[in-house]
Amino acid sequence: MRFQRTIKNEVRFEGIGLHSGRPVRISLKPAPRDHGVIFFRKDRGIYIKASFQNVIDTAFATTIGVDGVRIRTVEHLLASLSGLCIDNILVEIEGPEVPAMDGSAIFFVEYILKAGIVNQAKKVTYLEVKRPFLYEEPGIRIMALPYRGRKLTYNLELPHGPLKKQAISIELNEETFLSHIAPARTFGFLKDVEYLRKNGLALGGSLSNAVVIDGEKVLNTEGLRFPDEFARHKVLDMIGDLYLAGAPIAGHIISWKSGHSSNIKFIKKLIASGSLEVMNEEPAERALPLKSLYLQ
Ligand SMILES: [Zn+2]
Repeated sequence: MRFQRTIKNEVRFEGIGLHSGRPVRISLKPAPRDHGVIFFRKDRGIYIKASFQNVIDTAFATTIGVDGVRIRTVEHLLASLSGLCIDNILVEIEGPEVPAMDGSAIFFVEYILKAGIVNQAKKVTYLEVKRPFLYEEPGIRIMALPYRGRKLTYNLELPHGPLKKQAISIELNEETFLSHIAPARTFGFLKDVEYLRKNGLALGGSLSNAVVIDGEKVLNTEGLRFPDEFARHKVLDMIGDLYLAGAPIAGHIISWKSGHSSNIKFIKKLIASGSLEVMNEEPAERALPLKSLYLQ
């Protein structure tokens, strides 16, 4: 079994919101056992629990909100907390969006590690997949299978661009998250940028916080951090979205082309299906090597 964990010290940083384009200050604060992950909009005085029940929008990012007060783009920070096994934390934000940083989770991970991680005197609760469950919508499928550990598989298919078919399978633990998933950046197509901006989104987006694809080319001069960076980023998003279940999910989650909207619908249906059971024993996290397949 594993004990619940929080951070040792408060840590503060700031960055630009990807969609709003405005600077946002953020503080990560230690929290007591059984507190969970809670956001606090400091400028509005509103607490928002990181729960699928508080998701109010999933267009281009996952947005949580309460009483008309929202926080956009929570997924990369949530993925960092899930990946580093932080169960209890208070995230204070002075604005409507978690900063984009470099489009990946690596800065959040570094700040959390800088704050330090401490065990708390209570066992962590897992949601264990007891029975197979399948969620489907046109073109998208997500499956949950019983598994002694936290494993994620993602199958990506892009309409065009380099490496349009990618698949990755990862045994999730602190080490695999840090080295294989956290550095993978947000990506998008140049043709979509204009559409996003017309809708008041991606105003803070640039080549310094996203991989931009134009036709068959990656526009970022430094290139990709991994040949399959896009599939890895999809896993990163999924880890963040799945943490909105309220506890780590023990099982193997396999996705075909899901995004924020389908990830959240999947969590709701999975919980409603009764396929999950609460358990206090840690799943054995097998140290299998990362498997990455290039289908095309
Ligand atoms: Zn993302």
